[in-house]
Amino acid sequence: MSLLDEVLAHNERFVSERQGTIKRTPARKVVIFTCMDTRLVDFLEPAMGLRRGDAKVIKNAGTTVLDPNGGVIRSLAVAIYALECEEVFVIGHLDCGMANLDVTVIRENMLSRGVAASTIDDLQPALGDWLGTFRDVYGNVRRVTQIVRDNALMPKDVPVHGLMFDPSSGSLEVLVKGYIEKAQ
Ligand SMILES: [Zn+2]
Repeated sequence: MSLLDEVLAHNERFVSERQGTIKRTPARKVVIFTCMDTRLVDFLEPAMGLRRGDAKVIKNAGTTVLDPNGGVIRSLAVAIYALECEEVFVIGHLDCGMANLDVTVIRENMLSRGVAASTIDDLQPALGDWLGTFRDVYGNVRRVTQIVRDNALMPKDVPVHGLMFDPSSGSLEVLVKGYIEKAQ
């Protein structure tokens, strides 16, 4: 049985057992921007005391923002201006796969899977920056939190917090407290 078949078979049982509906706007009025890491699935939100219907969650590889008008900022804008979110949590995590990613290996894997060298070489910015790899998980959260905070499309009355999550223990550490700026 393929993975798709397994998913669909499970879905049939799942749907038959479902009841009730849930609102589109998040009950806790929060939008989380975090990493796509497998260990965060069904773990980060419970660790924060958030349940289905409580939060908007945006994910990508490494919790990175490359384009000031790109997908992350667009989703944050929709969460804030259309879906009543009043606080932003930027949450990186320890042991992130995007930290110290080996760009040479990725390039070799792309080539071996049929991607043209010219396609890789023409990337703007160059592959390493395009992937959004970074050296320091703490520095990345601080940097991305500042990028979101400083983005001209973000309203100044929305706190932007920066946190570090431990995917082993489930503990959260505050690196940037967005309320301080709000109080000024
Ligand atoms: Zn990660």
